[in-house]
Amino acid sequence: MRRGTLLVVTLAAVALAAAGMGPAPALAATKYLTIGTGGVTGVYYPTGGAIARIVNQKREEYGMRLTVESTGGSVYNINAIMSGDLDFGVVQSDRQYQAFNGSEDSEWAGKPQKDLRAMFAIHPESVTLCAAVDAGINSMQDLKGKRVNIGNPGSGQRQNSIDALAAAGIDYEKDLMAEGLKAAEAPGMLQDGRIDAFFYTVGHPSGAFKEATSGTRKVKFVPIELPKSFYEKYSYYAPSIVPVSEYPGAANDADVPSFGVKATFVTSSKVANKHVYGVVKEIFENFDEFKKLHPAYAVLTKENMLEGLSAPIHDGAMKYYKEAGMMK
Ligand code: GLU
Repeated sequence: MRRGTLLVVTLAAVALAAAGMGPAPALAATKYLTIGTGGVTGVYYPTGGAIARIVNQKREEYGMRLTVESTGGSVYNINAIMSGDLDFGVVQSDRQYQAFNGSEDSEWAGKPQKDLRAMFAIHPESVTLCAAVDAGINSMQDLKGKRVNIGNPGSGQRQNSIDALAAAGIDYEKDLMAEGLKAAEAPGMLQDGRIDAFFYTVGHPSGAFKEATSGTRKVKFVPIELPKSFYEKYSYYAPSIVPVSEYPGAANDADVPSFGVKATFVTSSKVANKHVYGVVKEIFENFDEFKKLHPAYAVLTKENMLEGLSAPIHDGAMKYYKEAGMMK
């Protein structure tokens, strides 16, 4: 449908150009900027949609139009923003930290991404472990010898799964059969009996877990309990819960403990101040409208949307935060 509309617009522009009239000036002035998100059953994809929907109401004022792309997740988004293939992206706060600092044990070891810029934080995400009841998995230890999706390379969750497994004394390369599937494929694979469990770092509620918990194979959320030393080692992780009431089909009767991060919105220092300013201004000035666009945003406040950022704040974003008195 959207593609069809674009094609018509393009054809009209070609026809006008052929007639020597040139494209309409408003059309020529619009800059298309793309937001990288995640799988379509996650929360990043609707988040990209929510941001685009709010900001595009002012597309003429800012001369930009945001478009949304489904991607492999945080790591992919950061790399694509750094290469200029994407302009904005939703990324996990831990990944933002690792990329900017070139952290050891990360994809960016020795390669700090100094052009990465933070804009704001969004919803909390929990590292969520979901298993088939018939696989007899009640703790991390029970994952040994099982077929478990830890996440695709390019996703944010893959390293979260590896860190949690390592903290439980489990080597993901030796002690289990680790799969590298995209999160959107995992619920179907679990229902088909092709995997026993999967990890997904995501906001709740999410389509992926609605899907995983509404099939004929009974599934449950498995607790991930970690010692204090884990949180001391990784400053970007914090304890969290999986709110099981969001998933009536799950075989759990109480919320499940886990750990988590925050979804954040990032860009590159190379993206123009006026565009970054426009995005930030529209989201904060339409905060109540934005907050209604996904149930995972229920906990958002303007203040906590500035927490969990580790890359420098983009100058265009800073301009708005100063104008609004949110930063000095
Ligand atoms: N946290 C996941 C990642 O960074 C994506 C979650 C989502 O799409 O909502 O890969």
